[in-house]
Amino acid sequence: MPRLQEKKKKIGRNDPCWCGSGKKYKDCHFPIEQTQRAETMKLHQAQDTLFARIIEAVQNMPEQFPSALEQFWEGKYTVEQMADLDDLEQRGAERFLTWVAFDYLGDQAQTLVERLAASLESMTDAIDVSAADASTLVVDPFEQRLLRQWQHVRLQPYVNEAIYEGQGLTVRNLFTAEICELADAAASRRLEIGEILLGHLVPVGGKAMITPAEGIEPAYGRDISDEPTYYLAGAAAHITSDTTEQLLEFASLHLEDLRRTQPAATWHDFVRQRSHVLNHFVMALPEVAPDPSILQQIVMRTRVALQLTGSSLSHLIGRNQPPDADADAALTDEPETDAPADTGHGADLEPDVSAASTE
Ligand SMILES: [Zn+2]
Repeated sequence: MPRLQEKKKKIGRNDPCWCGSGKKYKDCHFPIEQTQRAETMKLHQAQDTLFARIIEAVQNMPEQFPSALEQFWEGKYTVEQMADLDDLEQRGAERFLTWVAFDYLGDQAQTLVERLAASLESMTDAIDVSAADASTLVVDPFEQRLLRQWQHVRLQPYVNEAIYEGQGLTVRNLFTAEICELADAAASRRLEIGEILLGHLVPVGGKAMITPAEGIEPAYGRDISDEPTYYLAGAAAHITSDTTEQLLEFASLHLEDLRRTQPAATWHDFVRQRSHVLNHFVMALPEVAPDPSILQQIVMRTRVALQLTGSSLSHLIGRNQPPDADADAALTDEPETDAPADTGHGADLEPDVSAASTE
């Protein structure tokens, strides 16, 4: 927990500015900070409306759903079940639609958010038909600013490092170790230190919204006043801290696998190309009290699955799949019985909701 600090003394307008310029506060940083505060408020509002517009845009591309569902839920759900996804999985529909918007590549080389951001750049050419979606969708300049930043956002795991009760969290990206401040009051009340949020953290530029309000010293002693605050876009899955190691190991296997064809692949490439497997990991987790042996199995099965087919994770959650002829051919010295789907442990791994999501 961050240690509490005496609340910063309020600077009077006629006091010397805190920056040491020698000028009065009201003639130096006060107006700058006023402008920043106003901007932050507008960006804060824009993040709500922009996210709603993005989700609306996703819902307007139902032709993408079958293959996106297959990728995200490993074929567990059909288009007909879309309406029930929120019941079948904790806020499953919201998590899915958010992933489709930010991560799903489909047969396009770009995500929806990337395409929307790209069409902003050609907005000056208003007659351009390809620009129509974003230029009509996002007209507010604050939303446009956010949209440009959000094209880099992907589904990622974030470890809760510090709690600002009622305000938010300091989180660390499990892969890159990057630290950021997440403004999410609900998460600050529900998440414990060390627990993982698997979600989309969208940056909202401007002054940090968290620390100044309560005068709490930021984690890592960083000055966060000029860093963006992050918000949770859509729902997030919530993973208990005892699975951290396995999640990292699981993802490392995928990164290693990626490097077979892309030797220079980084975590960035992994989340760009395979963020959906993070949901497969969540699906494979048991609902209550993770059994360490199940966690170990998840990792083992991933190891086996990646060696066998180079990509298929269907074994991971214990579903029977017809053997892939090509994979078998490549596998002459691996006995068939290694296929985890045949071991009888599959039932233990029936995908369950381990995802207690936050708002
Ligand atoms: Zn100043």
